[in-house]
Amino acid sequence: MSDTKNVRARFAPSPTGQLHVGGLRTALYNYLLVKNLGGSYILRIEDTDQNRFVPGALENLIHILDEMGVHHDEGLFFDNDVLIQKGNYGPYIQSERLPLYREYVEKLLETGKAYHCFCSMTRLTTLREEQTQKKMAPKYDKYCLSLSHEEVEERLASHEPYVIRLNVDEARGEIVFDDLVRGRVSIHTKDIDDQVLMKSDGFPTYHLANVIDDHLMKISHVIRGEEWISSTPKHILIYEALEFPLPKFAHLPLLLNPDKSKLSKRQGDVAVEDYLVKGYLKETLVNFVALLGWNPGAGSTQEIFTLDELIEKFDISQIHKSGAVFDIKKLDWMNAEYIKRLSLDVLYEQALPFFSDKEFFRAWEENHQQLTADEKKDFMKRVLEIEQDRLVKLSDIGENNPFFFTDTLTYESALLNWKENTPSQTKEALEKALTILTDLADEKWQMREVLEKVLMEEAENHAKSLGGAEAGKGKGDFLWPLRVALTGAQRSPSPFDVAFVIGKTESIRRIALALQKLG
Ligand code: GLU
Repeated sequence: MSDTKNVRARFAPSPTGQLHVGGLRTALYNYLLVKNLGGSYILRIEDTDQNRFVPGALENLIHILDEMGVHHDEGLFFDNDVLIQKGNYGPYIQSERLPLYREYVEKLLETGKAYHCFCSMTRLTTLREEQTQKKMAPKYDKYCLSLSHEEVEERLASHEPYVIRLNVDEARGEIVFDDLVRGRVSIHTKDIDDQVLMKSDGFPTYHLANVIDDHLMKISHVIRGEEWISSTPKHILIYEALEFPLPKFAHLPLLLNPDKSKLSKRQGDVAVEDYLVKGYLKETLVNFVALLGWNPGAGSTQEIFTLDELIEKFDISQIHKSGAVFDIKKLDWMNAEYIKRLSLDVLYEQALPFFSDKEFFRAWEENHQQLTADEKKDFMKRVLEIEQDRLVKLSDIGENNPFFFTDTLTYESALLNWKENTPSQTKEALEKALTILTDLADEKWQMREVLEKVLMEEAENHAKSLGGAEAGKGKGDFLWPLRVALTGAQRSPSPFDVAFVIGKTESIRRIALALQKLG
């Protein structure tokens, strides 16, 4: 790109609910382009459809973009919960720009590029039905274009409701533009409706406000979802009618479900917040969403990118044309990778709300009120240390290891026996474990590796005492009953991991209980 200093891109959402993952991708690509080339990234709010107003949606949108680290340079911000605007091209919220749109509409009316339309809903519906019956594409028939100036004035004076339409010149011919993603796009003006520019409530339509704002805000690159590509020729006609230069356009590929249908709520979550609540990390989401329709180019197999790497590598020419499948398995894989890379302290901070959400954790807290805050934190960090490498999402914390959180284990004593071993053989192994763990100094319980070393040595000694490998005996004779005594479960992390989490007193108590069960 020749002139990179004046790159100005914007994310222009309508605050109608939660931020969709597709919206996050649009915001991110605009942000990455600007950060890569240098320039400004703007957040503009398109709230001209008053019927779609959702209280709180604007606040939520700004907060979530901020949380994801996709920070804008201009537009709307929250400063201590107060909505403020920053930048030289404001207001950045369309409902505060109504006089501006009115001014441009007047210009279009003066030059005959737009006209008043007084047609009733009934007439428009009948017209549409007739056209559909004749298998014609529904289109306004320019009926009001033929009204005389006097008639228009009279009807305006008598406060008849009206809209203002763009006067599309069929003879204008093909509208052609070069989309940075899709390549050359062309559509004939005979296929373009005399779209409404201003509604009867005096609000502009999306088309009009979008074009005027992109022009006045000096937007150089319009990057948005593919669903808007059919609007672009209409916008180009407005740019032409107002004698505005055209920005560059880039339409991002659709997001698809694995069955290639359009990504929708029906097949899973679509809001960024839903994924955060489930314990996907924001770094994962940004990384994952960045790869929905883009990669750094031929030969690259890199999947994990920091935001800085994305900024460095982002190139609009590498955006794909074809739809991008939202593959939850890949998201899970990526999240597990991100969780593995967190330091234990950061993991602990991020995991805190997920612990509190768990009923089994709240019950554990209830039963351990005597613990100091540090002791409690220590326990939670031990759980995390053991689970970190297997966690897919933060909300999975503790789910597979209920025995960390309960003092009551229910299991059949038969489960304690390794393979064909008898209860007395099991008892012998557990007694050894009990002695060794009871004798082990408190400070040695502080390190998982120490516990592992001590118990593995004992497992080997035990195997040897039974005749070793020759006799078909292995470490399982010692480790299995110990593990079941500590967990009551068929499957679990290793006995040293569990002992490390639950600590000396509880480990000893559980082994003693298992011995009692064996009678
Ligand atoms: N307000 C539109 C939206 O909600 C913006 C489309 C555009 O970027 O032009 O997505």
